[in-house]
Amino acid sequence: MKTKVLIIGAGLTGLLLAYRLKKEGISFKIIEARNRIGGRIHTVYSEKETPIEMGATWLSTQHCELLALLEELKLPIFEQFMDGIALFESLSTAPPQQIELPRNQQPSYRIKGGTHAIINALAKHLETDELILNEKITDIHYTTKVGFTLNSRQKQYHSEKVISTLPPMLFVNSIQFSPALPEELINIANKTHTWMGDSIKFGLSYPTPFWKEKNYSGTIFSNVGPITELYDHSNYENDRYALKGFLQSGMYLETKENRISKVTNQLQKLFGTGASAYLKYEESIWREESETFVPTDHFVLPHQNNGHSIYQTSIYDKNLFIGGAETALQFGGYMEGAVKSAQSIYQEFKK
Ligand SMILES: Cc1cc2nc3c(=O)[nH]c(=O)nc-3n(C[C@H](O)[C@H](O)[C@H](O)COP(=O)(O)OP(=O)(O)OC[C@H]3O[C@@H](n4cnc5c(N)ncnc54)[C@H](O)[C@@H]3O)c2cc1C
Repeated sequence: MKTKVLIIGAGLTGLLLAYRLKKEGISFKIIEARNRIGGRIHTVYSEKETPIEMGATWLSTQHCELLALLEELKLPIFEQFMDGIALFESLSTAPPQQIELPRNQQPSYRIKGGTHAIINALAKHLETDELILNEKITDIHYTTKVGFTLNSRQKQYHSEKVISTLPPMLFVNSIQFSPALPEELINIANKTHTWMGDSIKFGLSYPTPFWKEKNYSGTIFSNVGPITELYDHSNYENDRYALKGFLQSGMYLETKENRISKVTNQLQKLFGTGASAYLKYEESIWREESETFVPTDHFVLPHQNNGHSIYQTSIYDKNLFIGGAETALQFGGYMEGAVKSAQSIYQEFKK
């Protein structure tokens, strides 16, 4: 059966589009390659259900459309905890510096319950036949007469319109098209950065916020590594405790056991023996996720070509829209970009 709109990808862009189209009474399906929704928003509920963000975490007061959406969905936010002493490791041969960071004029905020709360709120009204998981779209055919035929390994779908919400580089490299995509689109997409696509996030849940006992904020900046940045990641209610941060990108070459051992050694060195009493270690190596990252032999600068004009024009007789956080005119790559992209494509359907 032919669907009016087929959305590829159930991340923030795809789910917000689905939420808006549903309210408008326009029929759609979302096809998602992974066995979970959320894409680059991925909250894992660690020991004692401690929410730890493996993907997007922070927003700011500049992210107006995201803030408006959170208000619409009645999801509260709270300020990132930064009170106390931050540690800075400039050199492996020097002791860490203790810094009292001045109060941030533009603090970062987190979403109560974890960033996944926004994903759950958008997805909860979907019917089972509107959201299909574990289906990777592998090829798209278009003819003026028939419209779109899309194949996954198991199934075939037919639709009048298609919206891609994949990072552009992934879109042009992981799907076969007939007729072929415009050459310029392929070139630009291959030079469009996928935000955080090669990052490594890790987190540790703890029975107590032991770092606060010594007046540490939980913040670390390090040139020494393997941890490069770390923050307090306790929950909104302040009854679940965690530290969460980023590892040097080359750490993907190590075994998980080595990463855990190096992380806990660094934390013990900086915060003392309490660091070894963690409940659970969590990590996400995004470059190993083929539903996000495309390895390249050329360097693409962070945010390069985000919001490029080529993404603002639909193709195949104006029937295929290229969405996703990286295509937004402002805040490309961020959650705000994903919201902006969904809202602007939705306006095209309302016309
Ligand atoms: C580690 C990390 C930290 C981040 N931190 C922040 C932050 O603090 N603040 C912030 O604002 N942003 C942050 N971001 C960015 C933020 O996560 C993204 O901007 C946003 O989630 C992108 O949403 P999206 O729907 O556009 O794309 P995605 O979330 O990438 O969604 C695309 C979806 O398409 C699916 N898909 C891929 N290929 C196919 C296929 N062939 N067929 C079907 N489905 C497919 C994917 O599985 C995915 O679900 C971070 C990202 C990461 C990875």
